[in-house]
Amino acid sequence: MSFELITIPCLSDNYAFILYNVENRSAILVDAPEADPINQVLSENNLNLEKIFLTHHHADHIDGLDKILEKHSAVTIGAKADIHRLPKLEEYVQAGDYFFFQGQLGKVFDVSGHTIGHIALYIPTQNILFSGDSLMALGCGRLFEGSAEQMWQSLSSLLSLPNTTQICSGHEYTENNASFALSIDPKNHDLIKRCEQVKLERSKGFFTVPSELGLEKKTNPFLRPFDKNIRENLNMLSSTDVEVFSRIRSLKDKF
Ligand code: ZN
Ligand code: FE
Repeated sequence: MSFELITIPCLSDNYAFILYNVENRSAILVDAPEADPINQVLSENNLNLEKIFLTHHHADHIDGLDKILEKHSAVTIGAKADIHRLPKLEEYVQAGDYFFFQGQLGKVFDVSGHTIGHIALYIPTQNILFSGDSLMALGCGRLFEGSAEQMWQSLSSLLSLPNTTQICSGHEYTENNASFALSIDPKNHDLIKRCEQVKLERSKGFFTVPSELGLEKKTNPFLRPFDKNIRENLNMLSSTDVEVFSRIRSLKDKF
């Protein structure tokens, strides 16, 4: 069986994702920011939408749902913790639950921090993590509901995934994230190289998402609060990882 991933730009800077079985055209959609571009991709590729997975309750991830469901009868899945504020779900999941799509086994991660009840979907056979607004390309989501400790715990839980994992995150924020990352980690050669690459890609209008976990580990400051150079720059050599993470997050909020 072979699968294909389609990244769909929505609204001003959101992404939705479709993964589909090439042979029978069955598809899963991750997040529903805007119906029209998603419905268009589904019809152009002659796809049968089987499931919709919602990462979290924010409007820019769910507002397109009703109009998509008018045209497609798909099962909507979201976090059990968020039943009260997500659109009507047919299935709900929580951390550690398994999830099946076209014979592929997915695993649900709790990645609270940006919101409480934010979930991510990992599909090991496809080397894909749908991370929503938790881990992003060179960044992570703002802490609207959770604490820095929670977000650091969430991101840490992703560090054990294979380096080749494709991180399908919810926004095209990478260029701004890159400038911030350079400001606190200016001597990181992998980061310098990546920033040049990102600039070039964006100047051509290319997407920088998905990104590879291995590269995130080397360049994303939110995955590297233990890094000596970052700590030195922040004057936090003897702080805990959570303290450094928290400082990085609040510096980014003001950047
Ligand atoms: Zn959000
Ligand atoms: Fe968002």
